[in-house]
Amino acid sequence: MKTIDLVVPCYNEEEGLEHFVLETNKVIDTIPDYSFRYILINDGSKDKTYLVMKKLAARFSNIKYISFSRNFGKEAAMYAGLQHCDADYVVVMDADLQHPPAVFPQMIEAMEQGYDCCATKRDEREGESFFRGFFSKLFFTLSNKMTSVKNPYGAMDYRMMTRQMVNSILELSEVQRFSKGIFSWVGFNTKWISFKTVDRQLGTTSWKFSSLLRYAIDGITCFSVTPLRFIAVMGAIIFFISLIYIIITLVQTLFLGVITPGYVTTMCAILFLGGLTEMSIGILGEYIGRIYMETKERPIYITKFSNFEDENNEEADGGSYEQSGK
Ligand code: UDP
Ligand code: MG
Repeated sequence: MKTIDLVVPCYNEEEGLEHFVLETNKVIDTIPDYSFRYILINDGSKDKTYLVMKKLAARFSNIKYISFSRNFGKEAAMYAGLQHCDADYVVVMDADLQHPPAVFPQMIEAMEQGYDCCATKRDEREGESFFRGFFSKLFFTLSNKMTSVKNPYGAMDYRMMTRQMVNSILELSEVQRFSKGIFSWVGFNTKWISFKTVDRQLGTTSWKFSSLLRYAIDGITCFSVTPLRFIAVMGAIIFFISLIYIIITLVQTLFLGVITPGYVTTMCAILFLGGLTEMSIGILGEYIGRIYMETKERPIYITKFSNFEDENNEEADGGSYEQSGK
């Protein structure tokens, strides 16, 4: 019997986690030819997600969990899950049922047809604000143009992959992870399926506009040096324009004498070049920061508790534990 591991990052999901498992179990029961296992990752939740996880693991034998020592982010949680899976096929999905388990049969069918990956993209972005929709379109267009990563609009992390593809993903051990880019970067045959998105029913989304902006910047800088090239090209263009301007000014001065008025041009030049320099330094800084963080080679995550046999570090009291904040 083929096995499928479900990697599920969970952050503050105490309200919805049980519902998620029960709903997913309903779908799993309709697919008897495959054996499913959950790998739940508690990404340093500030609520009782960990306790809910433990209870679920005690109730269902196919639930494994890893609990982080603090919040490391969804990317780190996915990485931890992928590191721990050993099934034939691996699914990464959210715990809030926005990634419907109902498409499992469709995914399995694609995998059995020989695809290495069956990924999802959202069809309609109903309920999404105009603002968010606009920026996410802009992001997909920009990142497809600027990086080697090609994702269709609305591409999501939710996907089923072969073991071989997961192994390749794990080989990319960078600390600053951008999964959508990594999934695309490793290659392999991907079949895209789409479904209508649903609103999060329980709990709240942990994304703010600032974190989405951060995510977009990560998406581009992790996979491309185009911004660096852009500032170099811009510098060159401005250099040539200023050469022409210098020649014109010199000629004017030589033939017409010293022309004093020039407040506006001087101010424009100072402000424009100043702004441009600041922006260029900012872009450079973004990359230097990344180099700095990567050279530290820190672990991507730190496990505090887990019920994987080889990591026998479950805490003894088994009950009153509640993960605290920072
Ligand atoms: N998540 C996580 N760590 C975080 C933030 C989110 O593991 O720091 C998990 C969360 O529990 C959920 C998934 O990542 O299973 C997606 O999060 P969310 O639903 O908040 O994001 P959205 O659906 O809005 O992209
Ligand atoms: Mg969600």
